[in-house]
Amino acid sequence: MKTIQLGATALEISEIGFGGIPIIPLPRDEAVSVVRHCIDRGITFFDTANMYTTSEEKLGIALKSDRSNVVIATKTAQRDARGAADHLELSLRQLQTDWIDLYQLHNVSNEDALKQVLAPRGAYEAVARARDAGKIRCIGISSHSISTAIEALKTGLFQTLQFPFNFIESDPLQALFPLATRHQVGIIGMKPLGGGLLERADLCFKFLQQHPYVVPIPGIRSSQEIDEIIELYQNPKPLSEADLKAIETIRSDVGEKFCHRCEYCMPCAQGVQISSVLMLRPAAKRLSCENVKGWLGAAMETVEKCIECGECEQKCPYHLPIADLLKENLALYHQYSRS
Ligand code: SF4
Ligand code: SF4
Repeated sequence: MKTIQLGATALEISEIGFGGIPIIPLPRDEAVSVVRHCIDRGITFFDTANMYTTSEEKLGIALKSDRSNVVIATKTAQRDARGAADHLELSLRQLQTDWIDLYQLHNVSNEDALKQVLAPRGAYEAVARARDAGKIRCIGISSHSISTAIEALKTGLFQTLQFPFNFIESDPLQALFPLATRHQVGIIGMKPLGGGLLERADLCFKFLQQHPYVVPIPGIRSSQEIDEIIELYQNPKPLSEADLKAIETIRSDVGEKFCHRCEYCMPCAQGVQISSVLMLRPAAKRLSCENVKGWLGAAMETVEKCIECGECEQKCPYHLPIADLLKENLALYHQYSRS
């Protein structure tokens, strides 16, 4: 496994990272064994978030004996200093470590969120204080919005950017990543498999290998999954004509109805949890029925409140037919829950 430097940070990491969401539903011992297998295969970069329920705790157990040999990234979605400081302490405890290598402000995807985290007594203040105290080595940001990420990078405050990147979400190649590389910001590609929408891992990673300055962090839930990805990296192949055609077909299949999880449509005055509801399809592909119910059940109940006012559709930059998609997803959820 190749080692690369993450932007201008001092963090040396494996060219593929580990995304910490899919270990949430795994029993603890199984999750630990998957993470240990990843270490054995040369993965040294592990990304999680305070919000990913049991993920930090499981990573903490698995990484403890190798703490100095791995790079741990986690995140807080708190917007104020007090909340961020509390989250950091919780992450340190759950990860069983004295320091976080990369601490990211999570899902800063609109102008208001960016203003909040950068305001006096905002989350950034607490995180910068923790870095000065030696609890954090580097500060990064994660986002789903190109315009917000651009504004964040222009501040010069963030050493890394985590952003969705795959062959159906390739806009950042032109619109965002050139700015990030000019600022020597390390780029972490979240959702290399489209958040579970893309089933052809071979196509996904062939595409990503064309952009080696972006470190993908596939969510890993089994030893077999990481073995397959490593195999693709050890025997890299260029995209063939047939691959390019397949990519175009997939792009046109998902293009019209694909939610990019940017949350421009939120909030809905009726309380409909739009972006969560639209995550049902990829979640159902990756998680057990019980976990989907636990994670998205409350959000699915909010669909009934939709009065089809159309406001969200006007705000969606991808012009998604949101009201129809909500109904489709609710029907799918009922069908899935009964199966
Ligand atoms: S169409 Fe439905 S989900 Fe969208 S803003 Fe109106 S009530 Fe909310
Ligand atoms: S529905 Fe549109 S605006 Fe809302 S999260 Fe999805 S892509 Fe973004």
